[in-house]
Amino acid sequence: MRKPFVAGNWKMNTSRADAVALAKGVAASSGEVGSVDVAVCPPFVYLSAVAEAVKGSGVAVGAQNCYFEKEGAFTGEVSPWMLKDAGCRYVILGHSERRHVFRESDKLIAKKVPAALSAELEVILCVGELLDERRADKTHEVVGRQLDSALADLSKDQMGRITIAYEPVWAIGTGETACPEEAQDVHAFIRKRLSETFGEEVAEAARIQYGGSVKPKNAAGLMRQPDVDGALVGGASLEADSFAAIVKAGAEAKAG
Ligand code: PEP
Repeated sequence: MRKPFVAGNWKMNTSRADAVALAKGVAASSGEVGSVDVAVCPPFVYLSAVAEAVKGSGVAVGAQNCYFEKEGAFTGEVSPWMLKDAGCRYVILGHSERRHVFRESDKLIAKKVPAALSAELEVILCVGELLDERRADKTHEVVGRQLDSALADLSKDQMGRITIAYEPVWAIGTGETACPEEAQDVHAFIRKRLSETFGEEVAEAARIQYGGSVKPKNAAGLMRQPDVDGALVGGASLEADSFAAIVKAGAEAKAG
């Protein structure tokens, strides 16, 4: 049985004071939900403060991105080892805003994944298709390519530290959501691909989050799907109460 995993991607939001208050709110409302793994992913500059705020609560901290080098002349970049040092357990890689706003390629993301694992971080790897690609019936092709590229050289052991987040790009921040059946279809495809590449044991253990306008009202329906193991939440993670409602929905959906 896979333990559900709900993570909040705060994107480029909050002040330092807001970040600490939100982190404390999440720790108070979601930190004790033992049947769900919970993480918050604040902007880089607030990672240490947020890590301090959630200390001892059961809420983990993740970053939203990193570079693949350990140190050196890479102005403006942040290394996975720095994230570990700042108190992170997770890092989100390949988010659609990194892929499409900042033009990150499959090749670049494929370098970041093993670097993050070397720094002893766990990775939330985002994959997902654009609206045009869905309309052209290319969802499986695109998601398959993104998975193959990012995971190509990983061992079965390393796969134990990867969570996949399926995030259809047309559903992120738009209020549009894949319906539970659409999400399940792609999640089942992802699990099948993992099984073909790494074997059934790895595929069955891998957690696959859904992301794209997850809200308290649609969270349970999505997470009740057999291959949806949690959520990566953007907008609704910026309020402790709505995030807590999604965490609770995850706990209830998987409790049966
Ligand atoms: C995200 O940023 O990963 C996301 C899914 O955002 P939203 O929930 O706002 O669509």
